[in-house]
Amino acid sequence: MTLSRRIYPGATIGIIGGGQLGKMLAQSALRMGYKVAVLDPSEDAPAKATSHLFINAAFDDEEALKQLGDASDIITYEFENIDGPLLEHMVSDYYVPQGAGTLLALQNRETEKGAVEQSGAKVVPFASVAGDEDVRAFAEKEGWPVIVKTATGGYDGKGQYVIDSDDTLENEAIPYGDTQFIAEKYLDLEREVSLTVARSTNGETIIFPLQENLHRNQILYRTIAPSRIDVQKEAEDEVKKIMNKLHFTGVFTIEFFIDTSGALYVNEIAPRPHNSAHHTIESCSISQFDAHILAVTGQPMPKVLQHGPAVMMNLLGQDLDRLDTDLYEHPEWHVHLYGKTARKPERKMGHVTMLADDVEETLERLKRDFEKE
Ligand code: ADP
Ligand code: MG
Repeated sequence: MTLSRRIYPGATIGIIGGGQLGKMLAQSALRMGYKVAVLDPSEDAPAKATSHLFINAAFDDEEALKQLGDASDIITYEFENIDGPLLEHMVSDYYVPQGAGTLLALQNRETEKGAVEQSGAKVVPFASVAGDEDVRAFAEKEGWPVIVKTATGGYDGKGQYVIDSDDTLENEAIPYGDTQFIAEKYLDLEREVSLTVARSTNGETIIFPLQENLHRNQILYRTIAPSRIDVQKEAEDEVKKIMNKLHFTGVFTIEFFIDTSGALYVNEIAPRPHNSAHHTIESCSISQFDAHILAVTGQPMPKVLQHGPAVMMNLLGQDLDRLDTDLYEHPEWHVHLYGKTARKPERKMGHVTMLADDVEETLERLKRDFEKE
């Protein structure tokens, strides 16, 4: 158990990971008067530009992690897949208020879903699978379609296979030998929503408005906040159960599925800032990034007020061309470009938050302007 400690402005916050989440965390920290140190393997990581000290090294480089720890008064992370033993070293040698246990439990979908199930919150039926026979046995019990996912390291739908029949399974070469997999019942989804919560080292908890998330190719595509389907209370109840089982410090987001029967399931938990809460930068009194910095530095947590509804659009590589022509016609659009040099289709290059008086009209306009072929 980490003792709560207040870290005052002027201190250095060390962040493991310098992607867009690290960059936006750093921007909040800098605005609050902290210094920032960042470790990232990419030499032009987005957060390099927002750090006093940038350590260009692999996430499993022990010496580099030590350098980050020595240079920082407090350590946090935006990267989820930190090696277990290395993270435990960091926790014993430096001040890491988030600890190691929760992150480690959430790194593997099997232990993650197991913990959620044990908390009494509802999860989609799942099983660990090591070959096609296991997937077939699972489908016999739960029915097709089934989604097979890598247990570790997956993000933005990477390492996922939707299998609708025995035949599809045979034609899909799932690399079982390379890593651990789980099978999950593939739901007929009505909606996806997410709830972002921050808990400080003093135990104060704040909750952001429920977000509604639209995905394309398993990648987040649009967020609407507040969600047009109001299950805030049900989602909060599920999160409370999970918080009684897993100890959280800092910001985290729970992703939920709602199936066509209206049942709410926990999908996964991100113990870090989350793409679906980027709208909070402009639409709320404090952002998810501000909330995280306040929470880990042990400051009082202000209640979250949302100024008005928001629509967030991710800018993937292929969307950037449209920016030049369309974007600057819209003064109510807040554009964020992460500064990634390599532009690839399906890579998250930035996002736009639209403060939307009329959500439906905004979504229609996006369809017109950004989805024309
Ligand atoms: P990632 O770690 O890549 O975000 P998720 O498990 O959240 O992995 O899956 C990404 C997306 O794929 C989900 O947001 C959802 O749109 C779709 N998906 C995943 N699992 C299921 C499922 N069991 N049923 C229906 N859709 C799913
Ligand atoms: Mg997800």
